[in-house]
Amino acid sequence: MSITKVTQHPTQNEELIFDRSQTGRVGFCLPKLDVDETAIEEMIPKELLREDDLEGVPEVSEVDVVRHFTRMSTWNYSIDLGMYPLGSCTMKYNSRLNEKVARIDGFAGLHPLAPEAEAQGALELMYRLQEDLAEITGLPGVSLQPAAGAHGEMTGVMLIRAFLDKRDGAESKNRRVMLIPDSAHGTNPASAHMAGFTVKTIRSNSEGLTDMDHLRELCAQGGIAGLMLTNPNTVGIFEKNITEICDIIHEAGGLVYMDGANMNALVGIARPGDFGVDVIHLNLHKTFSTPHGGGGPGCGPCCCTAELQHFLPTPRVVKAGDRYRLDFDYPESIGRVKAFYGNFGMMVRALAYIMTHGDTGLKEATEAAVLNARYVGHYLTEDFDKPFESDSMHEVIFSHKKQSRKGVHTLDIAKRLIDYGFHPMTIYFPLIVEGAMLIEPTESVGRADLDAFIDAMRSIAKEAIEDPQTVIDAPHSTRIGRLDEATAARKPVLRWRPDMDSLTKAA
Ligand SMILES: *Cc1c(COP(=O)(O)O)cnc(C)c1O
Repeated sequence: MSITKVTQHPTQNEELIFDRSQTGRVGFCLPKLDVDETAIEEMIPKELLREDDLEGVPEVSEVDVVRHFTRMSTWNYSIDLGMYPLGSCTMKYNSRLNEKVARIDGFAGLHPLAPEAEAQGALELMYRLQEDLAEITGLPGVSLQPAAGAHGEMTGVMLIRAFLDKRDGAESKNRRVMLIPDSAHGTNPASAHMAGFTVKTIRSNSEGLTDMDHLRELCAQGGIAGLMLTNPNTVGIFEKNITEICDIIHEAGGLVYMDGANMNALVGIARPGDFGVDVIHLNLHKTFSTPHGGGGPGCGPCCCTAELQHFLPTPRVVKAGDRYRLDFDYPESIGRVKAFYGNFGMMVRALAYIMTHGDTGLKEATEAAVLNARYVGHYLTEDFDKPFESDSMHEVIFSHKKQSRKGVHTLDIAKRLIDYGFHPMTIYFPLIVEGAMLIEPTESVGRADLDAFIDAMRSIAKEAIEDPQTVIDAPHSTRIGRLDEATAARKPVLRWRPDMDSLTKAA
């Protein structure tokens, strides 16, 4: 099967709005000035007044504007359009109710400097979210300040650093090694480094789990500040030795940081605090359904043991009687990590998500997330190489091993999925699986959509054998094919200039 590129389709041919411009066309007229124009000109310094007649601004009608932007919006993909099987990202559907609650005037319009007495509702919301996250993680100290997962990680390892400095005094400087598995998300070593630690890498074994012998070996070398571990790990497998791992680190004098980005596999079922974990971050914009992508805003709460909570960022939201207040009185705190109190809108959505699910609903969501990933895993194992035998948790990993013999690689499969109407999965992560394809359907995908995704993947596997070139040349159904993504990211062209006209025309 091959799809020829449609180049005549009007929505696919949308030009720049500048190219649509026709001298004299208008879409909107400003009302007549009701103030004296010359008086205004006198008030504004001369050098700030513009002299040209808004040259270069496109002259377009209302319908031009509406069609231009609507057409471009159809080139986009969104969680409201279909599933996002991106592994490690938990791109679940965001309920409209959460959005509605986040838009309630009293929440959306509240000034961050409003006095406590006038912000009781917002403070109560933050307090209740803290309480719920403490219950979900089994870790009583919570700060909602961090604005992303990576930011929560940095906050968490700073708590570890502050704890060690206090416990060991001057000796603390001999304890600066952070152990991180080779399957970890890149933010883990970055966060450890920013908090002043040096990273030693732990190998994964053939089952995709932390290699226990290597862990013991590294601990025996001494200087252990702690371990950063994702669980389920980034290949979607539960680290079944987690309690033993925590014991080994604690015996070596270090603390255990858990990267909680994969909590969608655990919420309501198992609690990191009960495993022996000391500190964790959560990604509200993954597990707790707040919108996600495009660089934010996010929220990466940091949850820790009672032993560590004196070091949490200030201010902390506390309850005194039936009132809520901001408490700055934590002399051992690592200090503020974010302006004001964090990204409040994310907190509203997350609490709405938790409250609408309730405890049984949260547990069901976790079970459905794991079931969906196993369902996909089950139906794709014949066509794709599955590098690890253990049952997956909320995401399942494959490699391109079977297809690469025909010259078809992970990138090609991902691009071909676009032709089938799906957003690609996460590719080439984690690095320990060559040609990795990490698929996370989440609980918000129904059976019909899962089946359609499975059919698309199996059909691509068939194409890779019978007609590999179609896959290698994909996508065929999009306005443009493969981009030079590195150049686009490094040298983005963000501004149109009249002399670029010839450039864009040529393209
Ligand atoms: C997403 C993710 C992070 C980072 O979270 P951000 O909010 O993107 O900073 C860290 N670790 C893992 C395993 C993740 O999947």
